[in-house]
Amino acid sequence: MGLNSKRILVTGGAGFLGSHLCERLVSEGHDVLCVDNYFTGRRGNIAHLIDNPHFELLRHDVTFPLYVEVDEIYNLACPASPVHYQFDPVQTTKTSVIGAVNMLGLAKRVRAKVLQASTSEVYGDPEVHPQPESYRGNVNPLGPRACYDEGKRAAETLFFDYHRQHKVRVKVVRIFNTYGPRMHPNDGRVVSNFIVQALRGEPITLYGDGMQTRAFCFVTDMIEGFVRLMATDESVTGPINIGNPHEMTVKELAERVIRLTGARSDLRYLPLPQDDPTQRCPDITLARKVLNWEPTVAIDDGLAQTIAYFRGIIEE
Ligand code: NAD
Ligand code: UDP
Ligand code: UDP
Repeated sequence: MGLNSKRILVTGGAGFLGSHLCERLVSEGHDVLCVDNYFTGRRGNIAHLIDNPHFELLRHDVTFPLYVEVDEIYNLACPASPVHYQFDPVQTTKTSVIGAVNMLGLAKRVRAKVLQASTSEVYGDPEVHPQPESYRGNVNPLGPRACYDEGKRAAETLFFDYHRQHKVRVKVVRIFNTYGPRMHPNDGRVVSNFIVQALRGEPITLYGDGMQTRAFCFVTDMIEGFVRLMATDESVTGPINIGNPHEMTVKELAERVIRLTGARSDLRYLPLPQDDPTQRCPDITLARKVLNWEPTVAIDDGLAQTIAYFRGIIEE
């Protein structure tokens, strides 16, 4: 191990964001332990790392205790797309809440720094726009998204209580919509759905009138934000928003995907799912100030890279 090399645990490391994070950390010479139960993750996402002596893979569910020796923990384990997190909602809440307790217990025992992948969903269907970290949110605790939103909110509570009560060094990042290569083709998220539909020449499915907004961050920018936050000193705990503030309607995203793929797909309007947020856009003032971070990849460049990835897997 090099002088600055650390032992780093990444839970959910075989997922979309986790695999990019593992790749980045291994490339910097760290020893990475990737833990995943393969609920939504795939071995294929990290296949290129398996032979690397700095990479280790463990099939494990974070709702069970884990005893390992590490310096840093990135806790990403949790299904992220509505289709997946609503498939087994009880398990989703357990993963967020019990997974957080176990990772915090581990961090406490080995005195590791621990970063929690929280979400813009803690703001629910926001009444404040764009959303700063101080906004307390508008979550329906009983709706179909609650298993995810409330699970992540409870995890944040646990992080701050372990910090105050046990002096655990915590970092909480509130992730806004992120896209890029290795998104699951069937996970139902808007970017993957639209690209796959366009490449297959199928109709693009717009939920509701397509006028709801999101702001999409390319995966490499997101990972840079994680690494910068982990590197901050003890006084920086977050929560801190990381996302791209370039807001657009879902319909505008559909039009971009059609233009960039050259597809002939029509638009098909379908009912809006319950509790679907009307608008969402991060206020990244804090990330700019504390992390000197802002996104660098323009939407059309990021979409082009993502389209190239999906072309590869669809034509395989
Ligand atoms: P993903 O579904 O691709 O990855 C999640 C990974 O966690 C998968 O590999 C899955 O198998 C694993 N996992 C799920 N439950 C587990 C359990 N009980 N034990 C062990 N592993 C488990 O999703 P992603 O987009 O990579 O999201 C990663 C993290 O970022 C999640 O915590 C998610 O809530 C958060 N996040 C993502 C986004 C986004 O836009 N991608 C936005 C907000 C928050
Ligand atoms: N834990 C773990 N790995 C460790 C230490 C703890 O998985 O290295 C789990 C353990 O199962 C426990 C949880 O983390 O249930 C919380 O740990 P803590 O020490 O805070 O609580 P306690 O063990 O006192 O209940
Ligand atoms: N959406 C859509 N068509 C799709 C998939 C999603 O219009 O095929 C919409 C969805 O209703 C939401 C937005 O796109 O308003 C983003 O959805 P996604 O599931 O990607 O993420 P989230 O709702 O969690 O932001």
